[in-house]
Order: sequence, then C-alpha cells, then structure tokens
Amino acid sequence: MEISGIRYTRIYIDIFREVFGVFYKNKIPALNDIETYFKNHEARILKDLLKDQIQKKIIDRGVPIVGFSIPFAQQFIPALILAYEIKNKMHDVHICFGGPVITLLSDQYLKDLIRTSPIDSCVKYDGEIPLLKLLNFILHGKPIDEPNCFLSNKSSVLTPIVFKSFRVRTASQRHKHNRLQKKNIKQLPMETPIPIAQSTGCYWGQCSFCDYINLHVDKVYRSRPVKDIIDDIKYYIDMGFSNFRMLAEAIPPRHANEIANNLTTNNIDIKWHSFLRVDNGFSINMLEAMNKSGFSCTVGMEHSNNCALKILNKGYNQKIIRKFFEKIRIASLSENHLNIIVGMPGITYAQEMETLEFCKEYTDIFNQFKCSIFTLTNTSEMGKNPQKYGIIINEDGKANKFNSHGRISSINFYDPNGMTSEEKHEILKLYEQLNQELRSQIRFNGYRNLILTARTGAYLEDIYFIFDRLSLQQMVNLNTNNNDGYFVVNMSASRRHQVIIDKKLSDMINIFKDKKFNFKDIIEFTTDENIALQYLKEMVNGSLVNVV
Ligand code: SF4
Repeated sequence: MEISGIRYTRIYIDIFREVFGVFYKNKIPALNDIETYFKNHEARILKDLLKDQIQKKIIDRGVPIVGFSIPFAQQFIPALILAYEIKNKMHDVHICFGGPVITLLSDQYLKDLIRTSPIDSCVKYDGEIPLLKLLNFILHGKPIDEPNCFLSNKSSVLTPIVFKSFRVRTASQRHKHNRLQKKNIKQLPMETPIPIAQSTGCYWGQCSFCDYINLHVDKVYRSRPVKDIIDDIKYYIDMGFSNFRMLAEAIPPRHANEIANNLTTNNIDIKWHSFLRVDNGFSINMLEAMNKSGFSCTVGMEHSNNCALKILNKGYNQKIIRKFFEKIRIASLSENHLNIIVGMPGITYAQEMETLEFCKEYTDIFNQFKCSIFTLTNTSEMGKNPQKYGIIINEDGKANKFNSHGRISSINFYDPNGMTSEEKHEILKLYEQLNQELRSQIRFNGYRNLILTARTGAYLEDIYFIFDRLSLQQMVNLNTNNNDGYFVVNMSASRRHQVIIDKKLSDMINIFKDKKFNFKDIIEFTTDENIALQYLKEMVNGSLVNVV
C-alpha cells in the first residue's frame, strides 16, 4: 500500500490479516484446492477492490504481458485470483509469475501450475534478463536461447515456459545496474533508504537454520565491483537521496572497507547500512573507516549462549562476539541493530535470559534488538536432519515437510528439551520492553514517563521539543474534502504508537513545524492548559516529537 510515496507496510499487514485471513493461513495450496479459493468471500473483495485498476491499466491499454512478483507466500493465492480475473477478460494476454516465492517452489509444482492455471510462464532467481528475453520472444518472436528452460505441454499460441536465470553470472552480468527510474521514485521523501545491490549469496553460508542461501541459484557468493556500487550511489545522490541500504546477506570485511574508503576519498557524504556477521576479520581501523563514511549495521548474532551458537553453526562463540563488539565500541560505530533468534531447539528459558542480559551490556552500540521466534524450514540443514538436533516433527509438520511444493513452508515441530510457546512469547516481550526503553531514552531524553504521568504542566516548561520529520511525512489525511483529521503511522515504533490527530492539533503542527517549542507555546496556542497537556501526551505517545 502506498500513499503519497510512503509505504504503509504495517497498516497493509494489519488490513491484510483482518480482511484476507484465509490467504494468510493457507499460503501455498495444493493445486487441486486452488479453485475453492476463487469462490470465497475474500476473493470477491479482492476482485472488487482492483476491478477498476485492472480495467484501466491493463485491459483498456491492451497490455500484452502481465508480470506478478511474489515476495511473500500469503500473496500467492491473491496473485492467482487476479491472474484468473485478467485472463478471463483478455484471453491472449501472457501472464508470468516470478519473485522469491516462485524461486523457492519446486519445478514440478510450477510445471503443474502452468498446465492447470492461466499462468503462461514462471521465472526463477534473478528475473530481469529472463523477463527481457520473454518480452523479445512474445513481442518480436525472437527465440529464447536460455539453456535451463523447460517446456510444459500446455497448448497455447505462445509456448508456455518456466525458466531459470543463468547458473553462473558472466563478467558483464556482474556489472549490471538495476537502478530505479527517477519518475518512479521522485515522490519518495529524501530520507528514504535506497537499496543498492552489493552481492548475491553469503560468504559464510553454513548456518544450520538458514534458508536464505537457497534464493541464489548456485549458492556461490558473488560481490559487485566497488566502482559499480559507488556509481549507483552517485546516480541516486544526483536525485537528492543520501541514505542507502546494501542488499547483502552479510558484507565481508574487505569489501565493506573498500566501499568506505572510496566514499571518504570521493567526499561522498551519505548514510549507508548493511548486514554483518560476527567476524573478527573486521579490524578497528576498518570499522573506524566505515564509521567515518556514514556506516551502520545490523549484526546477525542470533544468540550469545555457546550451546546455541554451536547448534546454529554460526562459526563463533561468546568470547569472539565480545571481542568483535569491543572493536565496534572502540571505533565508535553506534546506532546499530542486533538480530536475535528465540526458541531454537533444546535452548532453555534460562539460556534465553542469559542472552537478554548479554544484550543489555551493549546498548551503547546497538539501539534496537530485532528478535524473532525460530522457524524450522525444509531445506535448512536442521530441516533436512531434524533428528540430529533432537527435533521431533509433528504429524502435521510431516505432511508439510513432504508435500510442501518446494522449500517455502516452515515445519511444525515438538522440542522436548526447549521452551513452551508461552515462554518464547514472554522472552519476545522482554526484548520489546528493552527496545521501548532505548527508544524512549533516545527520543525523549528520559522525560517520557514524566510527561505521560503529568497532571499539570508544572515541571514541563524547561523541556523543549521539535517535531519528528519522518513521522510528519507519515501523516495520512483522513478526509480530503474538509481536511479535518490525520492518521499517523510511525513505522519505527510499535503498533500502539499509531495515532489519529484532530484538525486543531494538525494546525499546531503546521505552525511549530521545524521550530523548537515548549509547553508554554502549546498553552498559548490552545489557550487551555488541560488541552495543551492532552496534546503533548498525544504527541509523545505517537512519537511525533523529539526532546531537544
Ligand atoms: S544466516 Fe546469514 S551468515 Fe548464516 S548462512 Fe545464512 S545468510 Fe549467511
């Protein structure tokens, strides 16, 4: 969902779960079950929602090829429903499916899909070059010289094809630039993080739980030349952007250092981010150079307990993590994020608490702990050999494991030595509390509780505020006719921080925007201390302001 150039992913997920729960639960269906989804209530809502768009943007314009990119499994059935809808209205349109979900589905499932549905072709792995070949084939009759393609026996004017991109990238492919066109991104706020391709694959590639490595065709790590990365960055700088995210599973020390030095030597003043693994190949000098070039990172530590790290086969232990974090600290690399996995097989509540306490020692270098519950996937090392890890696969998990149409599904399992589901969620809550405290400390300089519990403005006059620019950009006008209210979604805060503000408060925002103000200024505007206090609490609760 995109409004005024801003993606409201969080609202989208909430609405999707609410309205289209059936697609969320079922994800990738058996092919002979697909028909049942087309008749249900949710399918009708979806078709109604997009009816006008399909008519205007596809049918009226006589579009010859429609491509669907499907990043998440719960989008698969909706994509199929729309594909049927389009094909019913335009029999000669060519429909092509691609994206991560298609990449992870088995070839057999895709062949059967093409045979039994309106889908004409599927593209696995990198889609750009195959899509170009497909366009040339359909529009100009140019034959496809793709060595890895295979045909289905569906009869059609156009030969339906499932094809994969190249097994090994040639030198010229390593140099390719997939840049976003100016006309497509000009509405984005200038602070928006812009993705830059740094590499495919992972240079470690041995974690026992990991499925990411399967997204690349031969699982070989390949980085792009530093010069090409810098050229991409310059291309976006010319449009005014200055915040970049490297697309990488984990950036290796030498490459990160080269990019950093190149940015500094060329006086390129940006912020850039990448995923890192704990790797003592990063020297203090390198980390300092990275810091100087505007770098911050998300470290995929996952756990700090030595038993857990061994199970995950991360290739390091707690002593190595401490040494690495100490170097980050000395290099003054701050505002980083740390990834944690909770509830892996055999790990106890006490061991999870040990990791939480470990994290608390490093809140000066990490300002967010991104915590998720362990999932067992089919083609990870753990999914292939569950008995080796003491995992017992449940009956429904067994069905899932053997009929999963490829690698997409997670497997339900019973973990006799690990935690209960309630315990896992309790640990997640403790991390959420820690994150909340850190956010509050940074944004409100320790004043959050004082403001939210204040009954009068007696102690508030010395605190100065400024509106948070990013939050203001996320205001959605609720009524475009008389402009009488806004819904603000703060994507960096938790769901309860989404607020609705009235016309008067939005007028106040317009007056104080970009200025420093205090409680006295708010009273002057509202002419009532109680209303002023109520507005201030709303602004703090919705994370609309920062304390300066
Ligand atoms: S979890 Fe990260 S570091 Fe480990 S293999 Fe996967 S991508 Fe590489």
